[in-house]
Amino acid sequence: MKLLQVPEFDIQSVKGFLADDEGEGLYQLALTASQMGPCLEVGSYCGKSTVYLGAACQQQGQTLFAVDHHRGSEEHQLGEEYHDPELYDGQAQKMDSFRTFRDTLQRARLEYTVVPVVAPSAVAARHWATPLALVFIDGGHALETALADYRSWAAHVIPGGLLLIHDIFPDPADGGQAPYDIYKLALASGLFEALPTINTLGVLRRIA
Ligand code: SAH
Ligand code: MG
Repeated sequence: MKLLQVPEFDIQSVKGFLADDEGEGLYQLALTASQMGPCLEVGSYCGKSTVYLGAACQQQGQTLFAVDHHRGSEEHQLGEEYHDPELYDGQAQKMDSFRTFRDTLQRARLEYTVVPVVAPSAVAARHWATPLALVFIDGGHALETALADYRSWAAHVIPGGLLLIHDIFPDPADGGQAPYDIYKLALASGLFEALPTINTLGVLRRIA
């Protein structure tokens, strides 16, 4: 993936939870999907996935909506395994990845492509009416959270569009099951077909 406007941009300079092959996959899939309409991600954190998806959308003159309350998931909270003190707002006594996220957008010159939606996913979805060519779910990993993301956004994917779900671990020994559970729900709905998984990135295409 190259940023046409910022060739010196180094994606490794963005904190995040995305393997290189998954990022490359997001970019390639979004390059095709964004020809059909706007894209949306749930769970931006510091903007790593946002840059991959946003670069593709920018190339197609498309828009990427980036939904995150920027207060972190369970594992990012103070004292938890993936807590990052640099992203902690001591005044508010809360996680805040939004400042870093904005900085990423600015450095990658994606401010006219990416629309940050700073809200809980289910709140952002409440009045959502825009058909989406690609939805990438990478938010909270509690089952209720993942289920709410699936129920909020899957219905907005257009036929031929893509539903991407991060952190798919078919073997429970490798990781939490909520993302895999919603992946299986999507398949069982009959509305989606599975395309090859990229590392832990589940790829589904809406068929009906
Ligand atoms: N895609 C990112 C990683 C996302 S980490 C990357 O490429 O690095 C998960 C993110 O989901 C966190 O930033 C957290 O704030 C957000 N999140 C968790 N639950 C959420 C919810 N219910 N609504 C909105 N954002 C949520
Ligand atoms: Mg993830």
